[in-house]
Formats: sequence, C-alpha cells, structure tokens
Amino acid sequence: MQNETAGGIRRTKIIATLGPSTDTAEVIERLILAGMDMARINMSHATHEQVRRVVGKVREVSARLDRRVGIMMDLQGPAIRTGELPLALNLAPGQRIALTVRGEKSEEVRSVDVNYDQLVDDIRIGDTVLIDNGTIRLHVLEKKRNQLVCEVLNEGTLGSRRHINLPGVRVNLPALTDKDIADVELGIELGVDFIAMSFVREAQDVMKLRGIIDYRKAWQKIVAKLEDQEGIRNLDEIIAAADAVMVARGDLGIECPFEELPIIQRRIVKRSIVLGKPVIVATHMLESMIQNPCPTRAEITDVSNAVFEQADAIMLSGETSVGHHPVACVEMMDRIARRVERSGGANYAELAKMDRLGAKMVKSALVMAQEVRADAVIVFTRAGWMARNCAWLRPMHTPLYAFTDNPRLLNQLTLFWGIRPFQMPFSEDPAVTVAGAVAMLKERRLVRTGGNVVAVTEMNIRGRLVRTVLLETVE
Ligand code: PEP
Repeated sequence: MQNETAGGIRRTKIIATLGPSTDTAEVIERLILAGMDMARINMSHATHEQVRRVVGKVREVSARLDRRVGIMMDLQGPAIRTGELPLALNLAPGQRIALTVRGEKSEEVRSVDVNYDQLVDDIRIGDTVLIDNGTIRLHVLEKKRNQLVCEVLNEGTLGSRRHINLPGVRVNLPALTDKDIADVELGIELGVDFIAMSFVREAQDVMKLRGIIDYRKAWQKIVAKLEDQEGIRNLDEIIAAADAVMVARGDLGIECPFEELPIIQRRIVKRSIVLGKPVIVATHMLESMIQNPCPTRAEITDVSNAVFEQADAIMLSGETSVGHHPVACVEMMDRIARRVERSGGANYAELAKMDRLGAKMVKSALVMAQEVRADAVIVFTRAGWMARNCAWLRPMHTPLYAFTDNPRLLNQLTLFWGIRPFQMPFSEDPAVTVAGAVAMLKERRLVRTGGNVVAVTEMNIRGRLVRTVLLETVE
C-alpha cells in the first residue's frame, strides 16, 4: 500500500526523474512499489515521442497497481550555451578566450560562439562566466561590440554546446522559449499534472505560463524552480504566484556562492511552509548512487535534512534517469524519510499565517485528532484547499487521507506532505460521503473497528451546507 508499508506512513513524497534507466513499464512498476509518488520528465532531454510513451506507461502502471502517481513535466527554460567546436579546447589558467555573439569571428586563438546575442550588453568587466556546471571559470577582461575577452581561471576542457551560468547578472532572456511553449502544449494535451518552470526570476514569469494554461482551459499546476539570485530576491512573490516551488540546487549552487546554498534551501523551505505552498528539494541528493549501490554518509544526511525541514518532496534526477540503481535510490529515500520523520521535524508550520477560516478549522480538527488519538483525519476536497490546509500544519501524529471527486486533482494531491489521495463520488448527503470514505479506509485496513476518525466535511443543516468537523468511531 502506498506510503504504508512496514515502518508506518511516510509523509515526505518522493519524485523520481524518468529516463533511459527507467522508461520501461517493468521498471516504472518497481519504482512505484518502492515508493515513487511522482514521476518527473526532464524536457532538456526528452523528445515529444518519448514523453508520449512514458506518460502512457506511468498512467497504465499506476492504474493497474491502483496507486496514485503524479506526473511533472520539467521545462528546459531559457538556457545560454556555447556553440559547436570542431575540437574540444584544453584551457589552462591565465590563457585568454573570446566569447563571441552575432556571428562575430575573433582574432583570439581560442574562441567560442554563444547563443545569447545580448551577452556583451548584460555583463560587466570583472564579472564571472561559468561554463559546464561551473567546471570552467572565466573572468571578463574586456568588452568589444560582439565579443567578450576573458581570462581562464582554472584548467578544463571545453566541448560543444556547454551550459553557461552568469552569477548575479540580470539577463534579458524570455521566461519561456518557443521550445518551452511547444512542450507546454504537449503537456496539456497529455494531461500531465504539474509543469515545472525553470529559472523563474519574478512572479510575472509564472503568470506567463499561467496565461497559457488558462487560455487552453487546462488545469496543470505550476512548480516554480528557484535557480538563481534574482529568483531568491523575489522569493515571496514567486511562492505566492506559483502552486509549488522547487529548490533547484544544481543551478542554484552555481549561480550563488556555494556556502550560501544550505541557508538558501532552509529559507525557501521555511517561507514556502509559512506561506502554505508545497516545496520540493532537488538535485544531487543521492548522486553517488548513479554508480554505486549505496549512498555516502553525507548524502544520507542531506536527504534526512530535507525530511527534517519537512519539505513536501525530495527529488531524484540523474540517480533514476541514467543511474545504475534507480529502484534502490527510491528505496533508500523511503527508508531514510520514514526513520527521520519518527524523530521529529523543524516545525516551521508553527509560524504559518493561517488567517482563513478553512485553515483555522482544519487546525482545530488536527488538535482534536491528536487529543482522541485518531487513526485518521479524512478531508473532502474539490479544489485541493482543504487537503492543502491539512498538509500545511505538518501533523506528525495522525495519517491524512484526502477524498476528491475531481479526477484532475487526484494526482496533484500526490505532492502534498502526508496526504494520501483517494477518488470517490460525493453524495448529495455529506453523511453518506463520510460513511463511504470510512468504509474505503476500513476495506484497506487503514482504520480499524473501534478506532476514531476525524472528518473535515460539510453538513446539510436546514438546507444550508455548513463546514463541519466530525468525530466518528469506526463500526
Ligand atoms: C536543478 O538545477 O537543480 C534542476 C532541478 O534543474 P535542471 O535539472 O533542469 O537543470
């Protein structure tokens, strides 16, 4: 049963990126059984044909296993890259290299084209250019009309089409490229549950994607990936505009001084919890397991730290897309998360600003559940808000079950901390709906006869639907 195998419930959700190591139905089944709550598809690598195939497989396997699995399409976003090189360039400290734009040819012995025409306008002399995940560092010495002359700071080999980061530089790139927009159209057509947007710098970026989704009358939720200093500066407005956020540590660790990364991670997780939005911690969580069957002690501590901070989800990237031990990675996260959750959490939710009535009501229901040692809190939700309110408070004492009649919402609930989603039709009579939900939990042995259940629901009182908290004893 999802999240409820030996060792009790796991509250922290696990996201696994699918790729060449994991794109068969057989491996997807093993990932789901090991505890994958959501599959991620990285549009920097997947073709549309691969996406169609993989989405179909995840849907087919999760239906067969009767397990809810969300699907997140992660857009490539605006990427600055070097161009083609006939031969890789071996670089040594102190050498000069020219970065050229707009088709310029340089007289420097070493030069490479860059796909971003405004590079020279945006950057200042003295700035740093990082290439290929920061493995090559350049110092800008001189600006010409269509080229930057840089000093190489460390040894490295520059190949073709390498990713460029410009830490602290305000670049003038569009929030969504033409490729991103074509990918969004595909995601909407295939009914993916989440679309993750790379390099979100301000709330306006999220609104652009929201505009496309709304125009198509689609329902996908937006995950804003925080990857650079500008995104961090505008953190609160981005959290408010998005449906969820991701601490995208791969790029963040290049765009920001690396010693800032743990502090930034904690700040993003804390602000997201305080403001009531789901948050994902991503990248390099079990990196060594791409090769090895066991993680390093440092990786175990890193995963446990995100679980302790009570992020909604922890994410695997290369570990499951191209790694040698994808299923073991999910098992490892599952095992660490269950253990660390039993030891307590950071409780940032204590600072949550719960000014809405629905949230306050859920808070009282959770207190009641703790007082009566309830086996379950059940919540009925059509748009997800009441489920969100339950997860928001991070209750460690009682399992949370969300029931919805909205099939589009069902897989989106897989992201929320601690929530296990079920689909069921809602009756005109709320008492019948509650009884149906309790029966469903009893059938799955998630509640027992004589146990208490707290239900957050609506009651028909003299023709008026009134929000209610019910305490039921299971018969
Ligand atoms: C990251 O940078 O950490 C990340 C998740 O984004 P991507 O894998 O798309 O680079």
